[in-house]
Amino acid sequence: MTETHPAEPRGFSTRAIHDGQPFDPRTGAVIPPIFMTSTFVQDGVGGFRDGYEYSRGGNPSRDALQLQLASLEGGTHAFAFGSGLAAEDAVLRSVLEPGAHVLMGNDVYGGTHRLVKKVWEKWGVEITTADASDLDAVKASVRPNTRILWVETPSNPLMKVADIAGLAEIGHAAGAIVVADNTFATPYLQQPLALGADVVVHSTTKYIGGHSDLVGGAVVTADASLAEGIGFHQFAVGAVNSPFDAWLTTRSLKTLSVRVERHCANAQAVAESLVGHPAIAAVHYPGLPDHPQHELASRQMRGFGGMVSIQLTGGRAAALRLVKQTRVFQLAESLGGVESLVCYPFEMTHASVRGTELEVPDDLLRLSVGLEDAGDLVADLQQAFAAI
Ligand SMILES: *Cc1c(COP(=O)(O)O)cnc(C)c1O
Repeated sequence: MTETHPAEPRGFSTRAIHDGQPFDPRTGAVIPPIFMTSTFVQDGVGGFRDGYEYSRGGNPSRDALQLQLASLEGGTHAFAFGSGLAAEDAVLRSVLEPGAHVLMGNDVYGGTHRLVKKVWEKWGVEITTADASDLDAVKASVRPNTRILWVETPSNPLMKVADIAGLAEIGHAAGAIVVADNTFATPYLQQPLALGADVVVHSTTKYIGGHSDLVGGAVVTADASLAEGIGFHQFAVGAVNSPFDAWLTTRSLKTLSVRVERHCANAQAVAESLVGHPAIAAVHYPGLPDHPQHELASRQMRGFGGMVSIQLTGGRAAALRLVKQTRVFQLAESLGGVESLVCYPFEMTHASVRGTELEVPDDLLRLSVGLEDAGDLVADLQQAFAAI
């Protein structure tokens, strides 16, 4: 890919491989070492080498990842955390106060909704939801005390696509900041900051980590005052990732573009193979021409991503039978790894939002389409449907 970024003349893949990753000056090691240290010797009191004092406040392995993330999202500041939810919490902490209102898309990761509803509401924060793919509905749901407009696009698990630029306009007119969860799209496919969002959050556990071997999160912004608050809470609350996890994430980011290209191609093949199957009532994938926001997704994203969800004509019972029949797709939560996974959101990822306005259909299966051979993935689903 020879794509360039407005603020940076080099393309995405070049930046992914080089930004924040200088070779080790002492040995010439091409890969910077993993700084597995909690503390740093001082040259006299306050005599910090390169600013390093204690690893909750700063560690070179975390800094390498943060520089790489800021570059790839087109931000000026990035912060890495021990999980996606810890990253989200740092944003909420640095912006909210009692009496503030959070307006959230009604089709977001269940844990994101739970964080505001179960952790923040008791401190006087209000939360309501709206269909983020419907700008009029969002506009009508804004309140005078709305401080955060929170959007996830494509959404989890129904793959709705929201117009980030349109939402940014509505949020800013209301005096709110706009937070975009870019976990599903990744910075390779979508650049929310360039579209007007103020903050991007990630579960780096997913595509950025990409190999199902770590849990992590990140926040990126180009707003210096937001960055100051988020950085303070990263340090003062301390939900940071380990130097080893930071390094693993750094290594994974270097291959993000090639992995995501293949995720997109495989997901498109899987989605197309399922359209029209008699056991399937609906296939949700923004890359299908009849997806309600296909045109918006084509404008806003470089590709359509690796996530596909389907609704079965046989309902819940058929969904529960199908997940026992797949041989390549493994039944597990999470997504974005090299291996294909199937999940039943109603009782797995989205169990925490049952009985709320975020409840997901009980005939829905979510597929995280991995990097195996597309033919094997298509064949696996066909044999599983034949068996139920
Ligand atoms: C998994 C996920 C999260 C939460 O991240 P963790 O790393 O599990 O804490 C947030 N948003 C989305 C879209 C996710 O898929």
